[in-house]
Amino acid sequence: NEFCKNLPKIELHAHLNGSLSSQTLKKLGCFDESIEEYHRLNKVMERSSRTLDECFLLFKVAHNATRTKEAVYTATKDVIEEFFNDNAIYLELRTTPRSEECMTMEEYVETVVKAIQDNKLNIIVKLLLSIDRRYQLPASDNVMNLIIKMKNKYPDIIKGVDLSGNPNVGIFNSELFKKAKESGLSLSLHCGEVKNDKEVEEMLFLNPDRIGHATCIHPKYEGSEELWNLYCQKLIPAECCLTSNVVCGTSKSYANHHILEWIKNDLPFTISTDDKGVFNTTLSTEYELLQRHFDLNDSDLWKINYNSIDYSFAESSEKDKLRDIMLEWKTKYM
Ligand code: IMP
Repeated sequence: NEFCKNLPKIELHAHLNGSLSSQTLKKLGCFDESIEEYHRLNKVMERSSRTLDECFLLFKVAHNATRTKEAVYTATKDVIEEFFNDNAIYLELRTTPRSEECMTMEEYVETVVKAIQDNKLNIIVKLLLSIDRRYQLPASDNVMNLIIKMKNKYPDIIKGVDLSGNPNVGIFNSELFKKAKESGLSLSLHCGEVKNDKEVEEMLFLNPDRIGHATCIHPKYEGSEELWNLYCQKLIPAECCLTSNVVCGTSKSYANHHILEWIKNDLPFTISTDDKGVFNTTLSTEYELLQRHFDLNDSDLWKINYNSIDYSFAESSEKDKLRDIMLEWKTKYM
């Protein structure tokens, strides 16, 4: 609807390669040479209901399309532009540093940063760098060292570290993320996407700045009573990704989404797309879904975005600017 589309929005959880639109993927197909790749892509994108493991196969398509610096640059630029066109005024992109035949991990990060620096649109963009759960020591430590080095080089753009990747694979290494925190990076951890009470507890004890998904924390959604009590003491903002969770099957339906507990109990949360390309969604669509399934009014949606400014990793002067934009918009249109 018009309101959700026009509302100035804050996006805090968007994976770069999962956010590539089919237009961008097609555009980048020329780097892949093969027409067959298009067919494979279309087949994969047409399927409507997937499992979590199947969803992770989809990222391979995007990764194949972004193997050169030129492609990574185009991909980043397009994603920023698409969020801007959807009236996002602030975007935190996250991406996993990756090396390819003709690009080192450092060059990959440099390229994403360059595309963000070159952005002339009226949208503030920050970067979080991700550690894939698959990485074991010492590889994960090497990536973390690179992330810290890049953050020191681009402190205005690189704001945080994310832990992501297939939740059915790998482990969470608390020490690694302590190091990131000590280096001044903010933390957002994918947390409780699948049931793993021990890991969720360990994550909450680390006091991350935000958690992603937060699916299996409340007892009604496979978490435990103790875990939920711990979460309620910590009050860490949750990044909720409705479509992603429903498509991957970690939430049974929109109406059954665990965000209900956050709404009911007035707990901190933000609404995010996760992977707008893979899940064929937009930030406006996520707000429409929220409104439709949880009976929220326009003011509620506005407030969720306004609160999200607090949870962002923007500078305080940028937060002030974002608040001004939202307040001005409210006076004009609500
Ligand atoms: P990239 O980091 O820019 O390459 O974006 C794609 C990557 O983000 C995937 O390969 C995953 O590691 C990660 N990712 C995307 N969506 C999810 C999710 O829902 N849960 C965990 N990891 C995810």
